[in-house]
Amino acid sequence: MKLKKTPMRFQRLKGTRDILPEEIGKWQAAEAVIHQVMARFGFSEIRTPIFEETELFARGIGQLTDIVSKEMYTFADRGDKSLTLRPELTAGVVRAYIENNLGKKQPVNKLYYLGPTFRQENPQAGRLRQFHQFGAEIFGSPDPAADVEAITLSIGIYRAFQLDRFVVKLNSVGDAVCREPYKNTLREYLRPRLNHLCQTCQQRFEKNPLRILDCKEESCRGETAAAPKLFESLCADCSRHFARVRELLTAAGITYDLDFRLVRGLDYYTRTAYEIVSDQLGAQDALCGGGRYDLLVEELGGAPTPAVGFAAGVERLMMVLEKIAWQPALKPAPAVFMAPLGEAATAWAVQIAQQLRLQGLAVEMDLLSRGLKAQLREANRQQARFAVIVGDNELQNQHATVRDLPNSLQSEVAFADLISYLQQSMQSRGS
Ligand code: AMP
Repeated sequence: MKLKKTPMRFQRLKGTRDILPEEIGKWQAAEAVIHQVMARFGFSEIRTPIFEETELFARGIGQLTDIVSKEMYTFADRGDKSLTLRPELTAGVVRAYIENNLGKKQPVNKLYYLGPTFRQENPQAGRLRQFHQFGAEIFGSPDPAADVEAITLSIGIYRAFQLDRFVVKLNSVGDAVCREPYKNTLREYLRPRLNHLCQTCQQRFEKNPLRILDCKEESCRGETAAAPKLFESLCADCSRHFARVRELLTAAGITYDLDFRLVRGLDYYTRTAYEIVSDQLGAQDALCGGGRYDLLVEELGGAPTPAVGFAAGVERLMMVLEKIAWQPALKPAPAVFMAPLGEAATAWAVQIAQQLRLQGLAVEMDLLSRGLKAQLREANRQQARFAVIVGDNELQNQHATVRDLPNSLQSEVAFADLISYLQQSMQSRGS
C-alpha cells in the first residue's frame, strides 16, 4: 500500500511579509517615484548580490555594531565559506565600486540602490527581518556640497511624495584628528557617572564610548544630557566642513536640528552624520540615516576615496504614505475583457488578446472557462471598459459582440475590424 504524505501548511517566517497584489500597485508606484527622483539628481542604479562574504560586512559595518555582533544571517555554504545575507547595502556597493574600478571611470560616482535587506532583529511595527532599503552613495568628493547633495536627495524623495512632516537631525562626528581626544574628554566626563549607566553602556565605555550618547535608556540619556558635544570639539578642518554643510543646507532652504546624540560610533565614519525622523512612525521613527564615510573605501581595500551617502527604509516610507493616504495612479483597469464561450472561441480569444496586448492595451481573459454571466460579472468587478463576447454563433458569422460595460451598450463588430475598433474606442477616451 502506498503511504500518503500528510499535507503540511507553511507560514511565513517571523519578521517577513508577503506583499500582496492589493498593495503591490502602491509599492511599484513608490519605487517609480524613487527611481525618478534619483535620476533627476543624476544618480545611476547599481544592483549588487543579496549575499556576500561575511568578512565584507564585518569590516564594512564594524565588529562592534549591533548589526554585525548580533543581527546578521550568516551561514556556511557547501564549501564551508562563511556567507551573509546583506544587512545593509553600502558595504556591497563599496565592494563593487572597488572591484569594478568605477573610480577610474569618472571623478565622482553617484550610485543608488533599492532592494531587500536582512537583519535578525526583534520584529515590531516598522522593524522587520526582511525589509527593503533604498539609498545612495557619492564616491570621490570630499566637498561639503556632496554631503548636501546626499541630504537634499533624500529630502527630495520624501517631498516628491508630498511628505513634509519630518525632521532632519544633523551632527558631525569629526575625524581621526578630533575624535580620539573627544572620546577621552567624554570618558572623563562619564567616569564618575559610570555606575548610573546601563550594562551595555558600561561595556561600551572603553571601546565605543560614542555609542553611549545614542543609548535609548532613560538613565543613560539623563547622564549624557549635559555631556561635552563633539560638534563643539571639532578640529579646524572638520569645523570648517561642518560650517559649510550647514551654510549650504540653509542655502538649499533646508531646516535641521543639531543633535549631538547622533553618532555612527565607527572609525570609518567621518564628519557629517544625519537622520530623517517622522513623528508618524511610533518608536521606530527613523525614515533614513546617512553621512560621510571617508575611510571606508580604503578599509575595504580600495584607493583612499571620500564618500557620503544614506540608506532609507521602504516599509517605513510605505507606513507614512499610508498615514497621508497617498494615492498613486494604480494598475489601470483592463481596456478589454475577453469572454470566450467554448474551446474554439477560447483559441480565437487567446490570439486576439495577444495582439491587443502587443498593441499596448491592458487585456484580461477568463481563465476558468466560465459561463457568460459569470464572465461578465468578473469583467465588471475588474472595471473593464469592454467585454468581447464570442461563442459558436459569433465564430460562424465572424463577428464579435462588443459590450461597452459602463454604458451597457452592445454592438456587433466584424473580426477584421475588431482590433482597430477597440484601439480607436480606447484612444477616443484618452486612455
Ligand atoms: P540603518 O542602515 O540602520 O541606518 O537603516 C537605514 C534605514 O533602514 C532606517 O532609517 C530605517 O528606515 C530602515 N530600517 C532599518 N532597519 C530596519 C528594519 N529592521 N525593518 C525595517 N526598516 C528598517
